[in-house]
Amino acid sequence: MEFVYLGHSCFQLNLGGKKLLFDPFISGNPLAGDLNPQSIEADYILVSLGHGDHVADLVSIARRTGALVIANFEITEWAKAQGAENVHGMNFGSTRFDFGKLIMVPASHSSSLPDGTYGGQPGGFVIQREDFGFYFAGDTGLIRDMEWIPLHYGRIDLAALPVGGNFTMDYEDAARAAGYIGCSRIIGVHFNTFPAITIDQEAAKAHFQSRQLELILPPIGKSMTFERI
Ligand code: MN
Repeated sequence: MEFVYLGHSCFQLNLGGKKLLFDPFISGNPLAGDLNPQSIEADYILVSLGHGDHVADLVSIARRTGALVIANFEITEWAKAQGAENVHGMNFGSTRFDFGKLIMVPASHSSSLPDGTYGGQPGGFVIQREDFGFYFAGDTGLIRDMEWIPLHYGRIDLAALPVGGNFTMDYEDAARAAGYIGCSRIIGVHFNTFPAITIDQEAAKAHFQSRQLELILPPIGKSMTFERI
């Protein structure tokens, strides 16, 4: 499984020959100046909530690539109204795609769209495959529901968790979340993009290390390959 970090909470997974793009926010990310959103390929675009720092490039990339937009029903209806025709609306629950089983799980946050449209409930995603389990928490504070994920949806081999604090979990809560989901290998997202979510990266990594956990804070544009733990 290949993970490519595109800044903030935006990343791409290359999974079973499919390209999955999450929370496309490149335009407007002050740290992602070297990336061109119009060069990003996608077969699927998964969106966890409606805020601008998660949907800024959603419609343009969806229209150019024809990728299937997967999000809560409110967000897919909004994307459709903006001209992204290929959408799959869902809500908390699971369904199957050719990349694996997808479970939309709760997140504790808010979710309005940039034009003020109601954005439904914010969520996270679990991807469950025979050879890999992945969890993206979206934007959320620490919630005990995370403990259910490995119990009900199988082993998590890699998780992307917000670590920037203020709007979401900080890295201390993300370390607690790693315990809840039983996953020792965490990619930190949603940090450093804005002053309010700036973190001390070395302190964050040391905090994880002292708990026998690994925190990966990838530079933007970095590609990494992961196998099952
Ligand atoms: Mn956000």
